[in-house]
Amino acid sequence: MSSPASADSEFVYELRVCRWAELGWPPGNSTDAAPDGPTSGDTAHIVARQLGTRQRRWDTVIVECDPEGLRARAAFGDDELDSDLLHVVRNAPSEWAWYRDPLPKPDYPWRYVREAVHRAADRGVVETRTDGNRIQLRRIAPYPDWVDRLIAIENKPDLDASAADRLADQLAHDVETGLADAAWVATAETGATVEPALLEALPVEAGVLTTDFTGGVDGDAAGVAWHPTGLEPTHGEAHRTARRLELAERAYGRGWRDYQETMRPDCRHYELRRDGRLLVPWCAAKACHQSAAICSDGCADFEPEPPAWRTEGWPIDGGPGSGIRELLRSRAERQRADEDR
Ligand code: SF4
Repeated sequence: MSSPASADSEFVYELRVCRWAELGWPPGNSTDAAPDGPTSGDTAHIVARQLGTRQRRWDTVIVECDPEGLRARAAFGDDELDSDLLHVVRNAPSEWAWYRDPLPKPDYPWRYVREAVHRAADRGVVETRTDGNRIQLRRIAPYPDWVDRLIAIENKPDLDASAADRLADQLAHDVETGLADAAWVATAETGATVEPALLEALPVEAGVLTTDFTGGVDGDAAGVAWHPTGLEPTHGEAHRTARRLELAERAYGRGWRDYQETMRPDCRHYELRRDGRLLVPWCAAKACHQSAAICSDGCADFEPEPPAWRTEGWPIDGGPGSGIRELLRSRAERQRADEDR
């Protein structure tokens, strides 16, 4: 079990790794990038945190994208498409057709597909019309092939022997399922001749990133101590492609700044502090970087923003809590727009 203090520092470390990945992926660029990774400037990537499957959740996920495909994905809106919507959108025809003709027969009743078609139409990601009592659909655009590679990173700032043991099991699962194309561990650089992480019993397929955030977060704050090898899928290719696309869609819709949805930026003690090129939550009452787990409805130190902060447009409409949410939301959107460019 992690102590609350280590859980807090792991949360902040996770935000730092996510921001570094946004700025600096792939590590080392042309000189020491992973041999199986993209090294040219014509790639794009998006970063998300706490994503995975029922069996496995990764701390940081990087989706390497085809830039053209990513631009085309923007036509389907900012929100993620879940598996039901993907089923509709990926198979919707260019010409009007009764929905059962182009969509593959599902393993479940057609009424669920019909429901998903309505949902897709409400989201504006397909067009529908009725012909007699039949629902017809047509695509708004071809759904692009935008996902190149999925990279999973586990964040362990202090990689001691017991943490390494737990991590070894998790990474072995990643290696076995091959859902991600490469798995990495990120850990704080110690300056030792041989980084301690390399002495632990981690699977050799997993890469090791060493980070140095003492000067704040920027794109050069991590380096490669060990390159990963590409993971081979053990599930069927169709199953793997579908699961990967669902994960990539979740990453697209959520990014990594959604932690503020569950935190309390409407508390008078909630601040954002600059850490290099990262804005990181700070609790003025506890005088520390609070974790999302602590900064929640159950926090005994919570105090609402004074009403005066919410009136007369002080100094940002709706008070600092709304301003902080808006700031993080607009940063996420700007980053996505930069990658879509
Ligand atoms: S006092 Fe509690 S709710 Fe308020 S910012 Fe600090 S951790 Fe969050």
